[in-house]
Amino acid sequence: MIRPPNLPPPYDRLPALIAQGAPLEAANVLRGALFANILRYAKTSSPFYAGRIPDTLLQPTATQALWRTVRTLTKEDLRAHDELIKIAKPPPFAGETRSAWTSGSTGTPFNCDVSALADYMNALVLERCYDWWNIDGAKDIMHLAVDRQGYQVSPDVQTQQGWRLGDARGKYHRLTVSTGLDAQLDHMRALRPAYLKTAAVHLGALALRARERNLEIAFDAVFAGAAPLMADERRLVEQIFGCRVVDIYGTEEIGIIAADCPRCGAYHPAVDVMQFEVLRDDGAPAQAGEMGRVVVTPYLNFAMPLIRYETGDVVEVGEGGHCPHGAIRLNRIVGRSKNLFTQSDGQKFLPYVALGEVASLGPVARFRFVQTSLTTIEFRYKLSGPGAIDLNRLAKVSRKYLGPAFTVTAAPMPSSDDDAGRKHLVFESLL
Ligand SMILES: [Zn+2]
Repeated sequence: MIRPPNLPPPYDRLPALIAQGAPLEAANVLRGALFANILRYAKTSSPFYAGRIPDTLLQPTATQALWRTVRTLTKEDLRAHDELIKIAKPPPFAGETRSAWTSGSTGTPFNCDVSALADYMNALVLERCYDWWNIDGAKDIMHLAVDRQGYQVSPDVQTQQGWRLGDARGKYHRLTVSTGLDAQLDHMRALRPAYLKTAAVHLGALALRARERNLEIAFDAVFAGAAPLMADERRLVEQIFGCRVVDIYGTEEIGIIAADCPRCGAYHPAVDVMQFEVLRDDGAPAQAGEMGRVVVTPYLNFAMPLIRYETGDVVEVGEGGHCPHGAIRLNRIVGRSKNLFTQSDGQKFLPYVALGEVASLGPVARFRFVQTSLTTIEFRYKLSGPGAIDLNRLAKVSRKYLGPAFTVTAAPMPSSDDDAGRKHLVFESLL
């Protein structure tokens, strides 16, 4: 269990802000101090930022307009300059440094450093989300997790006591996602956890398989993460498992970026631990109803300051409201920009294929559609049992959802799709 670190001001006030909130003005003063600190720290500690962050931005007179002149940091920048950005000796209160994996737009995994302080505050943000949804730490949870070492290392359920912060009552069952859907469903029937946590695309596949096998499995709530949850996946999971679905949007290197709110139905960004921006293609902030790229500046990662970091995700900004859980609202997480496919005329579009149609292609355990050129798409699959992919049906389904311009071929999912840092994307573009 994570222990609260010994924090200097103003960081010592942050746990209370996350847990209990504060009047807007007090909250903004604290957030402003955290923001100013990480900017100054990045500029003075990392050679990469020395020129990128102008001196005038560190003055109290700095404006939003000046802030927007700071170039955003892409994953490709990060991969090319990671050694310049990483800081060998962060201040002691930031705690240990861990290495996290992420992938760039080409899918190549690369690693980022994360301070224990950031992980700790992220755990508090997760606790707050559990509170919003009345999640009970006395009940058990099953976590289907991606296994970085490969699942042969520990193919069985590993159980430990306690999974909420400071609460050791419930059991935490961890199982690698690579064990196969049937084994996972069997473990659920045996252990009957109240909660389930796994990647969004995996949830949809699990629900389909449970229905196929006519299994009665129910949860109080399931938590979806990693990739954005599609509306039909959410409905399917709600129906089949008779539960609420909580979508938590985050990444390995940042932690939780926004969480699903049961009060207003929108996503609230984690503005206590990061500066959060949504930018249109022209670089201006997106307004309500507009889509834009997510750009974040986490306040607490002293091991690798990320200033105006583009996560690669696209969201739609909602109307501001009076929800007690947050003033900023996002209508939906549209997906990683690398999920967008490209038509032959260069236009991007959000690909979609109904899950029921994918299930009709054969005994599909996992799948992804990968755009490999302007005219070709590969359907990569893993089968859950004996059988084969119906290629004629694949051609029909693809035409129906992706249009007539693509040639779609089928191929078994290569093991490299499970590599460290690879997300379980349903749609990926290699362009
Ligand atoms: Zn809300």
